[in-house]
Formats: sequence, C-alpha cells, structure tokens
Amino acid sequence: MADIIIRNATIIDGTGAERFAGDVAVDDGHITEVGDVSGSATEEVDATGLVLAPGFVDVHTHDDGALLLHPDMEFKVSQGCTSVVVGNCGFSAIPAVPGEPTLDLSGVRAEWRDLDGYRQNVEKSKPAVNAMMLVGHNTIRSLEMGGDRRTPSDAELEQMRHHVQLAMEQGACGFSSGLISRPGRGSDTEEVLELAKVVAPYDGIYATHMRNENDHLLEAVDEALEIGERAGIAVQISHHKAAGKRNWGKVKDSLAKVDAAVADGARVTLDVYPYTAGSGPMIQYFDLDNPNPELAQAIQLASCPAYRQYEGRMLVDVAAELEISVTEAVRHILTAPEGKSTICIQHIMDEGDIVSNLRHDRVMIGSDGIPDLTGRPHPRLFGTFPRVLGRYVREQGVLGLESAVRRMTSLSCDVHGLHDRGRIAEGNWADLVLFDPNLVADIATYEHPKRESAGIRNVWVNGQLAFQESLHTQIGAGKVLSYRKH
Ligand code: ZN
Repeated sequence: MADIIIRNATIIDGTGAERFAGDVAVDDGHITEVGDVSGSATEEVDATGLVLAPGFVDVHTHDDGALLLHPDMEFKVSQGCTSVVVGNCGFSAIPAVPGEPTLDLSGVRAEWRDLDGYRQNVEKSKPAVNAMMLVGHNTIRSLEMGGDRRTPSDAELEQMRHHVQLAMEQGACGFSSGLISRPGRGSDTEEVLELAKVVAPYDGIYATHMRNENDHLLEAVDEALEIGERAGIAVQISHHKAAGKRNWGKVKDSLAKVDAAVADGARVTLDVYPYTAGSGPMIQYFDLDNPNPELAQAIQLASCPAYRQYEGRMLVDVAAELEISVTEAVRHILTAPEGKSTICIQHIMDEGDIVSNLRHDRVMIGSDGIPDLTGRPHPRLFGTFPRVLGRYVREQGVLGLESAVRRMTSLSCDVHGLHDRGRIAEGNWADLVLFDPNLVADIATYEHPKRESAGIRNVWVNGQLAFQESLHTQIGAGKVLSYRKH
C-alpha cells in the first residue's frame, strides 16, 4: 500500500510537455506510479480540477540563514516551493568562523565552518524545504581580504580557491559572485575567473549578480560570458534586469547576446523575479559622500532598524517630512545606529523587460527575496511564483502554464543539480505542489507584503505534507542537497 495517492489530477510533469489527466502514487518519499493508479493508500487526495506539478524551486534566494531562523519557511512553502538555492549574489553562509556572524545577508551566528557543518545545523532545525548551496565570492573574499580593493596576493588567492574547492567537495552546485557589491566590486575579471575555474572539474556553475545592471549591462553580460567560456563552465545570470529608465528595453539586447553565445555552444541560463522593483541592503547602493539623487528618488524603505516608523514609506516622503533633501535623507538613514542594516526597495525597472524575460525559454523564476520579516519586505518574498502563474500566465498570457512550470522545476533542477527532482516521474523524489490554476495569485503587496498567496492547496516535500490549505504542518522534511547526488 502506498503512503499517498493523489487522484484525478491535471498533471503538468515539469518537462514542458502538455498536461494530462492522471493519478500519482507516493511511497517512502518517492513517486512510485504515474497515470492510472489502482490499489490504495494510507491517504487519498482528490485533485479534481487542480494541477499537480513538481514542487517549485526558487533558484535565487538569500535563505541561507532563514533555514535556521525560520525553519517553517512559510514565505516559500506557501508559494508551492519545495527547494531553494542559497548562497546567491556572492553572499553565502559558508565558509564561516564559528561563533561569528555569517558573511551572507542574514548574519546569523555560525556554528560551522563549511558546508558539511552548515548541513548538520540546518537539518537539525528541520527546515520545511530543501536547499542547494552556492559558495559566494563576497564571503570568501571578506574572510581572506576584509574589505580591501586590490588584487589578492598569491597566498590569498590560493586560500580563496581552497574555500571554493572544499564547498564543491561537500556538495555545492557552484560559485556565485556579486560584482556590484562590496567587496566583490573591488575584484577584476581575472580573480573571478581563477575562482570560477575551481568548479570546472565538478562541472559546477558560475552564478552571477553582474558587475552592472544599468548603463553598462551589456558589458557586464560580456564579462559573465567570458568567465564561463574561459573557465569552461555553465553561467547563470541572476535577476536579469535593466535598471534606470534610460536603459529600459536593453534586456532584449542582453537576451540576444545570450542567444548568440548559446548558438556558439555556451551553456547560459538566467533568472528573473516578476516585479518592477528590486531590493537589497541600502548601504550597497549608495556612496555616502555622493549619494545618487536619481536612485534616491526611487527608494522605498523595507526594513529600517534605526527608524521603524519609516518602513514602507518612500524616501522622498520621509525627506519632505524632515525638510531635508532626498540625498541628505540617504545619509540620515545610513549613518544612524544600525543604519547599515537597512534594507530598501528600488522602483527602477520596466514592465516590458519583465515580459521579455518571462517569454524567454532559458529564464527561470527566482524570487531574490530577502527574508528579513521585521519590516516590510519586498512582496517577492511571499508572492513570486503565484504572481507568475496568476498575473503572467492566466491573466496576461505572456507564457503558457506548462512553460512556466518547466522554468520553476525541471530546468531549475537540471541547471542546479537537484538530482531526481523537478519532474513528475517514477523514482523521483516526491516534491509536489497541488494548486488551483483558476485561483492561484499573489496577495502580497508593497503595502502588505507578508500575505501568503492564494490557490496553493497542498505542498509535499520528500513525500511529507508540508502545507495544506494555508496550514503549515511543521513536519520539516527538507534536506540540504548535494550537487547531482541522489
Ligand atoms: Zn543579487
């Protein structure tokens, strides 16, 4: 007898193939039968009128610390996500110094040094979802060189290589960079290339928050492609966008560059979140001596530990209230005690560019959500996947449901080495989501960002029920996965 049989579902198997009607049986954490399932199960689920898909994979997250701080991962499970890729933008919770804050965006106190130690700690906390690790350039550079803006010495480069190699040995899927942020922006192409080369023997990936996403977007794409080509590895371009009004539309040129590289034999994929605003640590976007006034105009405050009353407000309105200029308001916030922990939202992108990204079949979905739940986080943290399925698939017809699911599942798993996942097929892990295609929608807004989405019925992780009709089961069946291992 099976553990679970899900009957009468509309199955979208994750490969991009057309939907079909059928049942799915799950036993001992795995999918054991697909199609017309006879026999019985401990639990039977009637899925009439609902779509059963592989669990969604959030390929772009900063959930390294959240898996420990918020193991129920409600903001991900409630979207139908069953796995997350952590360590993006060059910021990873490994390597770390025990007893000290991690050098990722969470800054949790580490009780580990490396991926094996992190895995033990995370699995002890029983997270609701699986995780796959990227080892981050900013993190290893901070460890070995502090905040220095210079080329590393041979000894420093060797130490950094060692960190990348150890992470790959222990199951990371690749190396990530965040070349727009400190300290990564102080590095040159050769340094990043030398470290990217370390993942080549493992056939790992190079995931990059590129050096520039506005006026020099296309040059930044060239650099990413060059690193991939010279290191001989696959490239994942993170949160692909063109920021700033004068650059809107450039996403098409950038995608054309990717298409040309792929035609020449390169392996290149991308991810996108379906919103026209970005978000990140505010200190990374401004030079305190000379804050960019144009960007300052576009800033909304997400979490602001120094002035909680500003959370959710536009910086221009705060400046008007304080009777100071908007650039003075930037300094006012960032130089306050704990000001450097401020997370902001930047309204800087174009809707048309999101559509171009979503139409491209090498673009996956990644939230880039920053799981700081104290303020008003960017709504992408709770809404990304249902927003693609509701707004862009059902309402606007920008992409088909099968294509969207493929770019939330099998493509994501293939690129990031989540083995035996991402497809509804016999023998695969039972990471599954059951949703109502007529109702699925994001409810989180900039005003009310912590609202769970609509239309997600059931989520199973490794064959265990994680979520059912807005109830989180707290079973905690997630694992820290190893690249291309069962
Ligand atoms: Zn990033």
